[in-house]
Amino acid sequence: MLVKTYISSSKASVVVGGALAAPRAFQRVIGAPSTSNWGISKVSPQRFPALEAADRSAGKIERAFLLLVQVVKDRIVLKDLAEKLEQGDLTGAEQLVDVENAMEQAALGKGVPVGEPGLQDALQIAFHAGAKAELEALADVPIEKAAKKPRLGAELSLNLLNPEAVAFLQGYTMNLIRQVSLQTRLAIRDVILTAFNEGGHPYEQAREIRNLIGLTQSQAAAVRRFRQMLQSGDPAKMREVLERTLRDHRFDSTVMRAIQVQTTIPKEKVVTMVDRYYQRYLTYRAQTIARTESIRASCAGQQELWRQAQQQQLLDPERTRRKWIITPDDRLCEYCKAIRALNPDGVRLDEEFVTEDGSVDQPPAHPRCRCAFGLFFPEREKRRAARRAAREAQEKKGEV
Ligand SMILES: [Zn+2]
Repeated sequence: MLVKTYISSSKASVVVGGALAAPRAFQRVIGAPSTSNWGISKVSPQRFPALEAADRSAGKIERAFLLLVQVVKDRIVLKDLAEKLEQGDLTGAEQLVDVENAMEQAALGKGVPVGEPGLQDALQIAFHAGAKAELEALADVPIEKAAKKPRLGAELSLNLLNPEAVAFLQGYTMNLIRQVSLQTRLAIRDVILTAFNEGGHPYEQAREIRNLIGLTQSQAAAVRRFRQMLQSGDPAKMREVLERTLRDHRFDSTVMRAIQVQTTIPKEKVVTMVDRYYQRYLTYRAQTIARTESIRASCAGQQELWRQAQQQQLLDPERTRRKWIITPDDRLCEYCKAIRALNPDGVRLDEEFVTEDGSVDQPPAHPRCRCAFGLFFPEREKRRAARRAAREAQEKKGEV
């Protein structure tokens, strides 16, 4: 069920995006909607346990992605790549950069230094942490069907090594690797083609190609334009450099001086500046993937717990709803805010959340989404509300 769930998520194709500009739908809004009672947890969404679990594993996912990229780069023999470029064999050049294979191996920990996380391990840590956080959150939830109302936390035996969970994690990791490899491959194709069209020394071209690996197409293009602006000697273009968010500010004075005296920036300095820009873009992409996927993995862990709870007949799907939980601060986007409004009563365990464009089964709704979700028991909430109203009426009577 979980494997199907992940694949059917309509946002799956955008998870490893990472363009700097946020889509219009995600633009920030000022003002936070009020948080209502979620029924099972008194903590604010900012301190929602599964989100905290996701946060803690994000660093490992970021590191694992950067290692994947390094493994791919390490495999490239510059001399061979230069030779292919010199022969005009662009397909051969692309095949030398063996992205899919290298990344798949590295995701499983092959070629990665001992003690460093493979992507699969890092995702597994987030998945397990999400399931365990959810178990704690539900520890005191009474099991509605049973007469003696035992607590779910005491009854459930959570098994994260069961075949479904293991299969899900494998499918999820490979799916993610495929998306990351594809984006990386498309970027490399672009970079090779442009290097070839622009001409230049094949060895230098090969080095440049290697130094763009790991970025998406648009990110690689942005780095390339950054280099062209620096090399141009054109004051207008060099001024644009100073508008790039991810530039290394330590070189601003160099650029400003070049603009003032209308000169070009020394070649070695351009190389350093471009490399710093690339490194920052790569970090940005790694963080985007880490933040997005840590939430996806952690939420999938929660779903696994719910699945097992249902299997053990500890959760009644008829009386249980999933609620979308936003982080209600000034960074909340309209897109996620709308998900709350579009699903006011939550959704069933096997039902997707409605969004402004299609449906999603679980957070994240978009790259760098900071949403969470949790269980909600409508009947229990109704009983609580009735008790509260009765108490208030009693108090009012007393006052008269
Ligand atoms: Zn969100």
